Amino acid sequence: MPRVAIIGGGIGGLIAARAASRRGIEVAVYEAAPELREIGAGVALGPNAMKVLRALGLEDEVRAIAGRSEWILTRNGKTGRVISRTSRREQAASFGSAAATVHRADLLDVLAASLPDDIVTLGARCVGVAGDGPAAVARFQDGNVIEADVIVGADGIHSAVRTSLFGPDAPRFTGKICYRSVIPADAVPGGPPPNDNAQWLGPHGTIVLYPVRRDELINVVCHYDDETYRHESWVSRCERSEVLERYSGWHELLLRVFSAGEVWYKWALYDRDPIAQWTRGRVTVLGDAAHPMLPYLGQGACQAIEDGCVLAAALAAEPDDPLAALARYERTRRPRASQVVLASRQRGVSNHLASPLAAWRRDLSIALRRRLGRDPDGRGTAWIPEYDASSPDVLAA
Ligand SMILES: Cc1cc2nc3c(=O)[nH]c(=O)nc-3n(C[C@H](O)[C@H](O)[C@H](O)COP(=O)(O)OP(=O)(O)OC[C@H]3O[C@@H](n4cnc5c(N)ncnc54)[C@H](O)[C@@H]3O)c2cc1C
Repeated sequence: MPRVAIIGGGIGGLIAARAASRRGIEVAVYEAAPELREIGAGVALGPNAMKVLRALGLEDEVRAIAGRSEWILTRNGKTGRVISRTSRREQAASFGSAAATVHRADLLDVLAASLPDDIVTLGARCVGVAGDGPAAVARFQDGNVIEADVIVGADGIHSAVRTSLFGPDAPRFTGKICYRSVIPADAVPGGPPPNDNAQWLGPHGTIVLYPVRRDELINVVCHYDDETYRHESWVSRCERSEVLERYSGWHELLLRVFSAGEVWYKWALYDRDPIAQWTRGRVTVLGDAAHPMLPYLGQGACQAIEDGCVLAAALAAEPDDPLAALARYERTRRPRASQVVLASRQRGVSNHLASPLAAWRRDLSIALRRRLGRDPDGRGTAWIPEYDASSPDVLAA
């Protein structure tokens, strides 16, 4: 079996480490931060991600820290009218597993605890890689150099590994921004709102609310059309008053929840085209390093989780030939992840429709799709949760 070095100890890197070590692959993780930590935000794990977590023996731990919502709703952001309603039971029947919503820090704790001791090196910032020789090589900011049979860049949206392999990317501003907060449910005036996993669509924006940490906290993500703010950072703060003003006229329940948010963040959404190649020699990428995507389908982390599972399967299937393993990994993953990148882009357009006629047509098509097909949320993307990256026949030849 190959020796594998993973650069980045986020969700994608730790899943890859868990999946690889369960297959008997020797794995080491190099993380730039001085500790394994996550931003204070929620993450929705779709049925596709939950099937992988089940295969990795982590489903129960993740469900134990998740929100408890039964209903997954799409609603009109102003009137509150329910456009579509799916239950977790219906999801499980359609896709083989139901979604879960968790706090990112709680998820990272579960993943870190699942790894063998001493495989993570902290404070190790990778500054460059080379994969064309007989061994893959990574260089670090402190001057350290390591070798492995395979190096995997799981170092996020601003990946040093991807840049080292393929040069800088070309992000395009979408004209959309995003606000987020995590709000204690019992701080909401009038009492905690229903614990639904709900997406509220309105002119020029979308709001997503779901519970995490056994319903103690509400994760809030709000998107809006805005050409003026261009700062792409997950951790830039903004004032609550800005959010309340931005969504004035939206449903009363939303504004009530927002009024209890003490700390708000704001970032500009940039879009990137799918990249044409993930692998060079013995080095490849996964997660946001491979396929950064807009957050409208809640699939960035889910696709990173699928990547980690498939990468480990490919390495185990070609134990003596890392180059063949990486080729099979990329052939399996790149078409699907690229399709999700494009579908996320499209969903952003559809969610923000400002014309009442266009929004009415969208809502009608959701209702029809729900009636006619096996498409619980009516948005035409059932192919995403249907997929099972842990299935034995998922690997491309
Ligand atoms: C607010 C928000 C909400 C989201 N909601 C969802 C959701 O509901 N569902 C979903 O599926 N996705 C969601 N996403 C997307 C998802 O969070 C990302 O797609 C996911 O975190 C990608 O995981 P990753 O491991 O590839 O990268 P990251 O989580 O970014 O992890 C990268 C890791 O690499 C480390 N690192 C960076 N550079 C280096 C270096 N040079 N050397 C060593 N280490 C390095 C970082 O410190 C970090 O630990 C959301 C994103 C945001 C911002």
